[in-house]
Amino acid sequence: MRVEDLRSLSQIGQALWVDPVLSRQRTAETLQAVGLLQLADERIVERASSALLARARSERELIAPALLSDPFFRLLPEERLLLVALHQERWSYRRMARVMNWAEDEVATRAWKLRVHLASQRVDPRKPLASLGAVGAPTRKASCPEFDPLNPWTQRFFDEEHAPRERLFIQNHLMACDDCRSALGRCRDLYYLVESMIPRAPENGSADMAQLQRLQREFQKIQGLVRSEVSWRQALGLYLRRTDSQLLIAGVLTWIAWKLLA
Ligand SMILES: [Zn+2]
Repeated sequence: MRVEDLRSLSQIGQALWVDPVLSRQRTAETLQAVGLLQLADERIVERASSALLARARSERELIAPALLSDPFFRLLPEERLLLVALHQERWSYRRMARVMNWAEDEVATRAWKLRVHLASQRVDPRKPLASLGAVGAPTRKASCPEFDPLNPWTQRFFDEEHAPRERLFIQNHLMACDDCRSALGRCRDLYYLVESMIPRAPENGSADMAQLQRLQREFQKIQGLVRSEVSWRQALGLYLRRTDSQLLIAGVLTWIAWKLLA
């Protein structure tokens, strides 16, 4: 598994638990459990994200009450995951749909509602974002892109969800249409306001890298066992005997519980 993927999972863990020690622990346990499944790296990241979310939903009380003054941490775990994945990891709607078990359109409509909601809590009253609920093109001409107020094209533009041809059409149209250009400008203000409200995990240089590499080695060790000739049950037994790691045991128990509940 690539270090970039591990970094994405770390960011997600941090947004879900906030506390860096707890978030690292939960991410490591989840990876150890998901490593037992024989999946491609891309799917492992998605499965691990879904598992982190399921666990965070059951541990919401672990967020320090003082943090609840921050509008971002008042959001539901799935809302925080959605924003971090879209803004910081640049995941596509298709990938988010797989992680959340939603339809792709649902990803877009939920993201829009959420962005408007979050931005409305931080808007400067002296300089309001023009009518947050309708950051679209108010006067639409026949040549303008179709505007859906629940899933506006302006949001899809910043999430880079248009096919190349469609994006080219919009870019050409923007050169000739003041209304659509100003609609896109309002959406840009909203988009970057929301982005500024999403905390970034503090970077700790070489310590972070060492932590990620350790996770990577652990993960590869588990995958090596799973891909060998022995059955996963034998591999699990072998690995449990080989290590005294409390984290691993907790991770395996989580995995078993997760499989039973799934
Ligand atoms: Zn237009």
